Amino acid sequence: MGETKKTDVVVVGAGPVGLVAGLALKEKGISSVVIEAEPYGRPRAGSRAIYLHNATLKLLEETSKGLGFTLARNGIIWPVKRTLYKGKQVYVRNYGVTDNKDPHHLPHFTSLHQHEIEKYLYEACVHAGVEFVWGEPVQTMDISKSGVRLVTENGNVWEAEYVIGCDGARSVVREQAGLRFEGPRTADTFIVVDVKEDPDNPLPLERTFHYQHPAMGGRNVMFVPFKDGWRIDLQLLSSDKPEDYMGVENVKKMDAESDGP
Ligand SMILES: Cc1cc2nc3c(=O)[nH]c(=O)nc-3n(C[C@H](O)[C@H](O)[C@H](O)COP(=O)(O)OP(=O)(O)OC[C@H]3O[C@@H](n4cnc5c(N)ncnc54)[C@H](O)[C@@H]3O)c2cc1C
Repeated sequence: MGETKKTDVVVVGAGPVGLVAGLALKEKGISSVVIEAEPYGRPRAGSRAIYLHNATLKLLEETSKGLGFTLARNGIIWPVKRTLYKGKQVYVRNYGVTDNKDPHHLPHFTSLHQHEIEKYLYEACVHAGVEFVWGEPVQTMDISKSGVRLVTENGNVWEAEYVIGCDGARSVVREQAGLRFEGPRTADTFIVVDVKEDPDNPLPLERTFHYQHPAMGGRNVMFVPFKDGWRIDLQLLSSDKPEDYMGVENVKKMDAESDGP
């Protein structure tokens, strides 16, 4: 038999949304706990969300003093945006500004790996005293007039006035609340490749979108720099088999066929 604990709010999931929810509640003095299915220090695959806009940085700075500036200075700003169509450049813009270290102004964006973003969010949570429970997947949830009752796979029970479901795309909270995941879906398939920057031979910090890349059989390719790495998004054709493009060996083949962005 597990324990029954009470708090005002249970936040389910310690991804970026759960971390920010836990932090915001703590800063407002509302008692809460963040319950995460995976153990502490779990690996977080892929670069995923690598871009924080100025509005997001401002919001995070308002939520937790210093957080926006920490994220800004630990990311990079790419000053050049380039668009090509079938091998020819059709648009280029050089913003010129690359200062992300200004202690008084947040930049218009910063770009860093999602697991790095989560690291800084988590550090802010720890600093603020947010309570975490790791390795406890929420299994069931009952909603009543007095609040919510959550039971984890380990048999522990949490009773709270509110629950915030931050448990990702396959949310148990959403499913248990009888809600649907709304919004449109694209049928397109993308291969996302993360490449580590070569510190001895760094590439120029440019975001390049190449529509119908001739060296990639007319597929669309996007190259985006982030701190210490590059993200390559390859949009497959509807006739492609994704497995032909997945894995290190297939990515090396793409590199051999293509002569650059
Ligand atoms: C390949 C890829 C590329 C992406 N690229 C981008 C991009 O370029 N830009 C962008 O903005 N976004 C991108 N994303 C999306 C981005 O990663 C997500 O939007 C972001 O992680 C969502 O954050 P979240 O906190 O809502 O959920 P998640 O990061 O999914 O975190 C959910 C957390 O909840 C936990 N959890 C799940 N079930 C339970 C449970 N039952 N009980 C307790 N805990 C639970 C999970 O273990 C996880 O830690 C990409 C995603 C992928 C997969």
